[in-house]
Amino acid sequence: MDDNAQLEEMTWPEARDRFADGAVPIVPLGTLEQHGLHLPLGSDAIVPHELAKRLADEANVIVMPPVYYGFVPATRDWPGGITISHDVVERTFREITDGLIHHGADRILLLTGHPEHEGIIKEVARKVADDEPDVELMTMGYWSSPILDVIQETAEHFGGHAHEPETSIMLALRPELVHMDRAVAEESTGRWDGEVVTDHEELLYEPVENTLEHEHETTGTGGDPFGASAEKGEAMVDAWVDRMAGFLDDWTA
Ligand SMILES: [Zn+2]
Repeated sequence: MDDNAQLEEMTWPEARDRFADGAVPIVPLGTLEQHGLHLPLGSDAIVPHELAKRLADEANVIVMPPVYYGFVPATRDWPGGITISHDVVERTFREITDGLIHHGADRILLLTGHPEHEGIIKEVARKVADDEPDVELMTMGYWSSPILDVIQETAEHFGGHAHEPETSIMLALRPELVHMDRAVAEESTGRWDGEVVTDHEELLYEPVENTLEHEHETTGTGGDPFGASAEKGEAMVDAWVDRMAGFLDDWTA
């Protein structure tokens, strides 16, 4: 819609005009954590940032700079992993949101690339709803319901971390950062599977363990990335951009 939707590249009058025009800020919220042998540490920030940039071609949005520092206690011992405390992360997301509201935004999309942030952004949204009743927040992980059907139809293996869908999406968005020649398949760590819980023990709280010590995760990969392709990733990315552009149209109408 506009050549320059990225806030950090705007002048202040450009930013003023975009806020005045009702553009929806998208805040990409990621992490620095291991993503197997073949994906970069910043994958969880890179994907939502690139998705937001693509969505900017189809919808009136402001692409905020991604937050690379997040809550990753289970992977902090892997080289390059940095974790920030839960309360500091929540406070950071909240203060970014407050800054956007201060500039006139009344609809904001908090878009995470990291499952552990889903609860935090919902908590931020709950508190904003209490304090700012005229502001609406949309919170989501990019893999969630808008494209879960496309992911399930497209991917052969979709459980885990640094797995096939995440790898496909990275191949579509930033292929130069994906090292398929180094990829390995490991046991799935279970995310994105949508499996039915059949044992109460699956519901019991377990203290966070350092996954570097898990035998089945010696490479940090969870699942099988070998079915990944840029073509599959494009199908997921296109569906995401297309459906989200429709959602934003409806939301801002
Ligand atoms: Zn990830």
